[in-house]
Amino acid sequence: MELLVKETDLTEIYRATLAKWGEEAQYDQMVEECAELIAGLKHFKRDKVGTEAIINELADVTLMVGQLTWMFGPDRVEAAMEAKLKKLRALLAVPEAR
Ligand SMILES: [Mg+2]
Repeated sequence: MELLVKETDLTEIYRATLAKWGEEAQYDQMVEECAELIAGLKHFKRDKVGTEAIINELADVTLMVGQLTWMFGPDRVEAAMEAKLKKLRALLAVPEAR
């Protein structure tokens, strides 16, 4: 069966993942995926890997962001994002010094 992101109940995947491997493993996995993306970007800058490698690492990190967001509370993460976007908008509205 094909697993299409848009048609997948990610919440069910997050729940099953947490049940199978536990909380600690999710934190470790997030750290590992972030580290792989960091390393990938360093290699990309030096032309050691192509865009496909970065896209794969972005997919891993995106899934882990979803997993941890679900674990910590999507509403709380969204509220934090809104506060950060508000700050960013204010910074973008400041004219650049010349
Ligand atoms: Mg990875």
